[in-house]
Amino acid sequence: MSKNEKIKILATAAALSVSGVSCNSAENDNNDMEKQSLIEKLKGLAGKGAKTVMPEMAMCYDVPAQPREEFTCPQCGELIYVWDDRFDEIKTIIERLKAKSHDVKVERICKKCAGLIPKESYDNDITFKFSYKAPDAKEYHIAYSTNIVDFYALEAALNGDNQFVIWGDSIPLSEKADALKNMLGR
Ligand SMILES: [Zn+2]
Repeated sequence: MSKNEKIKILATAAALSVSGVSCNSAENDNNDMEKQSLIEKLKGLAGKGAKTVMPEMAMCYDVPAQPREEFTCPQCGELIYVWDDRFDEIKTIIERLKAKSHDVKVERICKKCAGLIPKESYDNDITFKFSYKAPDAKEYHIAYSTNIVDFYALEAALNGDNQFVIWGDSIPLSEKADALKNMLGR
């Protein structure tokens, strides 16, 4: 699991824990137990690091402390709250590739407009729509990913490198074959 995915899971767990503590009436107990169990599952998913960053206690009426951004989907106009999604960093990667004459672009849209979840879903979320046109291709290849590692991998692939460095780790591109197939269609 990437650091980004881990952060997402922890943000969800933190938001749930904040909304489910200490000032509830008795009839909410069942609900709270379900929430607590979900929080535990999310913590488990996020792995060992979870304990160190999860708030031990949260007070009533407090909102999560994470920086939050309001995002309006440019296609459908739905408002979605976004926690740090590293989109600025991804845009920087795309700008570097453009500067090297690669035909790439990236935009943020909602998952409903991306066709990743049904239009009638209660929940919605953002995704990054990545478009790439190979020099000999007639059409853009479209891929969806919110995983910044995928973008570093594709940058390395388009630059002809066989590895990339992220968070101080050197990752061989051979480990990212599935991600590259998604991002570049090859
Ligand atoms: Zn939308």
